[in-house]
Amino acid sequence: MKRALFPGSFDPLTLGHVDIITRGVTLFDEVIVAIGVNADKKYMFSLDDRKSFIEETFKDEPKVKVVTYKGLTVDFCHEIGAEFILRGLRNPADFEFEKAIAHTNRHLSTIETVFLLTAARTSFIASSIVRDVIRNNGDYTKLVPDSVRVKP
Ligand code: ADP
Repeated sequence: MKRALFPGSFDPLTLGHVDIITRGVTLFDEVIVAIGVNADKKYMFSLDDRKSFIEETFKDEPKVKVVTYKGLTVDFCHEIGAEFILRGLRNPADFEFEKAIAHTNRHLSTIETVFLLTAARTSFIASSIVRDVIRNNGDYTKLVPDSVRVKP
């Protein structure tokens, strides 16, 4: 069974993440979307909300599972039997950042990182931009799937 872990904060899930997960499903038997829990980080959405946004979006896709984890991503991969890490690339800045992480993970383990280039139509979307739009009362709904809605 080819199992890939797609790690991130997903604060919140965006159409960019949805594109990578949807395409990941065609390459792997299972895509585990793993929300990393970092006690030092401040999030806009609660862990429960972030998890349910993803579960709701992929409720009809049995190959997608959503979990939360703490600690090193490669350790968690070993724990759940995932041989691959899936990551998305938007631009050269993503590439430089991801390259260092992938090399480190390769140094620590035999886990392979597989990169998918973002779809052109979602290449500009980042969770940080979505949060900014939300904070300033802009229309964020075209940047995220329907399951992501700010509670009034
Ligand atoms: P992190 O907290 O590690 O920045 P994110 O939740 O922002 O995690 O992103 C998780 C993964 O999704 C990363 O591989 C990131 O490059 C990818 N990603 C985020 N937005 C997009 C997008 N618009 N297109 C493609 N990949 C994306």
